[in-house]
Amino acid sequence: MHCPFCGTHDTKVTDSRLVVEGDQVRRRRQCAACGERFTTYETAELVMPRVVKADGSRESFDEAKLRAGMLRALEKRPVSAESIEAAVERIRQRLRARGEREIKAIEVGQEVMDALKRLDQIAYIRFASVYRRFQDIDEFRAEIDRLAQEPSFSPQDDH
Ligand SMILES: [Zn+2]
Repeated sequence: MHCPFCGTHDTKVTDSRLVVEGDQVRRRRQCAACGERFTTYETAELVMPRVVKADGSRESFDEAKLRAGMLRALEKRPVSAESIEAAVERIRQRLRARGEREIKAIEVGQEVMDALKRLDQIAYIRFASVYRRFQDIDEFRAEIDRLAQEPSFSPQDDH
C-alpha cells in the first residue's frame, strides 16, 4: 500500500476492523517514512468462476448482464430494487460457494430462475420462457401446471 502523502511503499497497519456487514475491512495505516496516518477500505476480491457457454467458449462472470436479464423479466413487476439486489448478491454467493473455477452458463441461468421464482412468478415465467425456449405451447403450459402444483410457488418475502 502506497502512502498517499509521500508515495512510499513502507506503510504499516495500526488498526483493522470489519465494517459494513463483514465484507469490508477498514484499516488505519501509518506511513513509516513521513508518519502520516490514513484509512483504507478493502473489499475481498472473491474470484467468480468463469462461465462456459453452450458453444464451449468461456467468458468472465458478468454481474451487469445477469442483473439486466433479471430486470428485463421483472419489468413493471412489483419487486423492490432492494429485493433484486439481494437476489443478485445471493446468486453471486451461491455461484462462488460452489468453489468451481468454471461453471456452465445454463447453471447460472438456473440460479436466476430459482431467484426469480422466489421474487415474482410472472417474472419467472417470462425468464423461463425465453431461457428454456419452450418448444411449443404444450410444453409451456405443462411448466405452468407444474408450477401451480408447487406449494412454495407464491410470492414471498424471505428477508
Ligand atoms: Zn508517507
